[in-house]
Amino acid sequence: MFPLLWQNSTPLNPRKEEALPHSVETHPLPSERIGTSRSLTVHRFGTPGTRPKVYIQAGLHADETPGFLTAHHLIRRLASARVLGEVVVVPVANPVGLSQVVKGTHVGRYALNDGGNFNRGFADLAEAAQARVQGRLGPDAAANVALIRGALRDAHAEVRPGDEIAAMKHALLGLALDADLVLDLHCDMEAVVHLYTGDALWPELADLAADLGAEAVLLASDSGGPPFDEACSATWWRLSERLGAEGPVPPACAAVTVELRGKADVDDARATADAEAILRTLVRRGVVEGDPVPLPDPACEATPLAGLARVIAPASGVIAFRRSVGDRVEAGETVAEIVDPTAKDPDAARIALTAPVAGLVMARSNVRFAGRGDLIASIAGAAALPASGRGLLFD
Ligand SMILES: [Zn+2]
Repeated sequence: MFPLLWQNSTPLNPRKEEALPHSVETHPLPSERIGTSRSLTVHRFGTPGTRPKVYIQAGLHADETPGFLTAHHLIRRLASARVLGEVVVVPVANPVGLSQVVKGTHVGRYALNDGGNFNRGFADLAEAAQARVQGRLGPDAAANVALIRGALRDAHAEVRPGDEIAAMKHALLGLALDADLVLDLHCDMEAVVHLYTGDALWPELADLAADLGAEAVLLASDSGGPPFDEACSATWWRLSERLGAEGPVPPACAAVTVELRGKADVDDARATADAEAILRTLVRRGVVEGDPVPLPDPACEATPLAGLARVIAPASGVIAFRRSVGDRVEAGETVAEIVDPTAKDPDAARIALTAPVAGLVMARSNVRFAGRGDLIASIAGAAALPASGRGLLFD
């Protein structure tokens, strides 16, 4: 199994270890170049093997900073909480991307060695797990879940990642794949809080959405990629489709991509509030001891990811926004104008970019100059749009 080396496991609160186990592990990644080495830092709370297990990571897209600060506050709170299940937190999930600074610009979404999106291409373990459990499922859903989790761990252990980035993705998936709840903390360019998760996981995750004040929840069963959350969760509905006749296969890993607003929305007040919202979810689910508090009213209904309409720049120019994130727009309403400052006639220098559908301005670009074809804004509409022939997620 890769990797076998878990180094420097350090109990941080040895006097209270029985009540508040918290350890920090350093997980070395294989070096690609002489003299370089990177590692993942893993915070563990509670007792390994107890349920429910929760896995939380931040910064898989390494230039998305809000999750780092939220993870920091969450770790601080978990360290003094009584964890009844198990919580694993990787506060910096992508040290490779974190190191990619090119002439003063941090490139954290794509790997500079091959251009790959760090949140795509995770291993699909469904087939390998299926081969291990076929003919062995029965009427007991909990027994099936335990059997499949074991098969997933075994299938994962057989994968041999080819390089440092593959090893990093492999390690992250290995930490998460048998969790009951997985939160992958990201952010958009400029955005309201929104979630991406599976059709089968709604309304199960409605409490988290309400507590975080999510203004959009986008559902899909196969968004393309696959992104990290689906690598953890979609296995379960794929196995249910293939093996459901043998016995129940529930969606046993509730994985969700949590978009914590925009890249610059980073401050202690918001990060503390987000960490507290996550903690309340853990209390509600019996992972952390405490008294559940009443949920706020949900800020939105879930909508299909296939209903997310993109506003694309038809020409290059300055982006002059007319609507902000969080605004509701009607179809045909102007969201932004593209301005060509070189136009001979300044009165003919503007192109109106209109909302393709009615919905919420969920996210918009955080730069103000567009190239032709650039994504300017995303509108969460209520109904699925005709298939575009490409994956539902933008790369
Ligand atoms: Zn991201």
